[in-house]
Amino acid sequence: SDSHFPVPVSPRHVDYTAHFPQVDSSSKRIQFADVGCGFGGLLISLATLFPETLMVGMELRDKVTEYVKERILALRVTNPGQYRNVSVFRTNSMKYIPNYFEKGQLSKMFFLFPDPHFKEKNHRRRVISPHLLDEYAYVLQVGGIVYTITDVEELGEWMKACLEQHPMFESLTHEELEADPVVKLLSTATEEGQKVARNGGQTFQAVYRRIACSS
Ligand code: SAM
Repeated sequence: SDSHFPVPVSPRHVDYTAHFPQVDSSSKRIQFADVGCGFGGLLISLATLFPETLMVGMELRDKVTEYVKERILALRVTNPGQYRNVSVFRTNSMKYIPNYFEKGQLSKMFFLFPDPHFKEKNHRRRVISPHLLDEYAYVLQVGGIVYTITDVEELGEWMKACLEQHPMFESLTHEELEADPVVKLLSTATEEGQKVARNGGQTFQAVYRRIACSS
């Protein structure tokens, strides 16, 4: 349960030195968050694609978080100078996003193959919801991007509908999706995406940009 992990009281209390010991973090803030990162495949790919960007996974399961931590530490040892920009938080992202990130801090957020919570009464437990999108809009900078993907068609429609209906998000165009190298990684770099691909399954993605508030 939640009581077993410490939560920073505010983004200023996030321990950057512990998570990024080889980075001068006095001038840098985390910019990418992979929410429900699982075993960390996406982050590992992003870390070398964006070597100057600090990024974290947020993961609820203790053992999985420990695995990702060890995986990153090992990669730092075997690849000197690399992977120093990536780390993982054990946390409940549905409760504590504002404890970790300031207003407008993030440029990318990822919600990849989240748990579906099929039953109507469990929809409030989905990681994308109208209410949580308000929080994500708050921590994202204008122009920041939300990436979602799932192999569950109903959940894909739900995530897309929530984003489409939210006043602070707009869909990327087909051309923008084609031009963004990160879009290709959503299914190829994640463990869940690889599993779906092996089984020949379909995926449903929604990629939206945080826009300025017009009112
Ligand atoms: N994104 C990864 C991938 O594509 O391979 C993992 C997908 S897995 C199906 C969903 C992950 O979200 C699980 O590892 C689960 O523990 C995590 N998760 C579920 N609820 C969460 C929450 N409230 N906060 C953080 N992580 C959560």
